[in-house]
Amino acid sequence: MERYSPDQMELDARDVVARAIAREVSEGRGTENGGVYLDISHRDRSFLEERLPRMVERFDELGVDMAEQPVEVAPTAHYGMGGVVVDEHGETDVRNLYAIGETMAGVHGANRLGGNSLAETVAFGKVTGAAVADRLADGPGADADTVDRLAGQSLADTMAVANSDGTHDPVALFAELRAVLWDHAGLLREESSLQTGLERVASIRDRAADVAVGGPTSESFEFAMNLGFALDVAEAILRGARKRTESRGAHARTDATETDPSWRRNIVVERDSVGGMALSTRPVDDPSSEVQQALDAGYELDYHQLE
Ligand SMILES: Cc1cc2nc3c(=O)[nH]c(=O)nc-3n(C[C@H](O)[C@H](O)[C@H](O)COP(=O)(O)OP(=O)(O)OC[C@H]3O[C@@H](n4cnc5c(N)ncnc54)[C@H](O)[C@@H]3O)c2cc1C
Repeated sequence: MERYSPDQMELDARDVVARAIAREVSEGRGTENGGVYLDISHRDRSFLEERLPRMVERFDELGVDMAEQPVEVAPTAHYGMGGVVVDEHGETDVRNLYAIGETMAGVHGANRLGGNSLAETVAFGKVTGAAVADRLADGPGADADTVDRLAGQSLADTMAVANSDGTHDPVALFAELRAVLWDHAGLLREESSLQTGLERVASIRDRAADVAVGGPTSESFEFAMNLGFALDVAEAILRGARKRTESRGAHARTDATETDPSWRRNIVVERDSVGGMALSTRPVDDPSSEVQQALDAGYELDYHQLE
């Protein structure tokens, strides 16, 4: 880490360390499995057991003693900063439809801090839960017949996917989609690779229209259900990353390495009139006075959150 962050070293922010690992591996200095070694053997065993109990246990199960040996590590995807646009009560622009948790957008900016995801689910659970309760207190949003009709239609659409006698395996297509995102929209991104990723997503989308699916309790049914949603999210991520010609937070472009102040904007993806995706941008709001005050105070953590 001396090459990348001589002061903070491996205790720098997660994205900095993850990118450093990715660069070491891509430049041929990684392990044969595509990782690097993390050596924390200079700390006492008691320190590791107190601060990293789950990791000590996990590596122990794998036959590696962190207090004595270096451990092999590699970055992985573990959070999506984007999500569904909601208002301050968690409501989407479809009335009575709320989104909460990792699926909603806007709380963490370009780079979520460790530990803040679980805090978010608790904080917005309270806010959104109260808003839903208030809305329900106003009476039902639709009469029972309408709800039955819409639910029946939705169930019929879902069941239509079951027992399809198509060509492609939805489980395999899902795995391929994951690999496409990792290869083309992973830690280090650039225009031509993002473009290739979009082409690969289009190819999976074509095949997803002709899948072999079992009954409603089968694994293939579950994957077939989620494949359409996952394809939309994958395409939105790749298009957004291609449009954002700068680096910011966890979005690192090797062909646009600087943060561009004119890009202090969110990219919004909507369905266009012919079923494709339309991308637009809107400025990021200013922080509330309380948040600005906290930022101005320049708090720093002396304990580094790992996740
Ligand atoms: C390895 C790892 C470590 C992490 N560590 C931390 C940490 O230390 N601190 C922290 O703050 N955050 C951490 N995070 C992030 C945090 O765990 C998640 O952001 C958070 O759990 C998201 O909660 P959620 O309720 O929004 O979504 P989830 O917990 O993902 O819940 C979504 C649920 O929806 C279900 N679902 C999906 N599709 C369908 C469908 N079509 N129909 C019905 N149900 C469906 C899923 O099965 C799941 O149960 C970590 C994440 C990972 C992967």
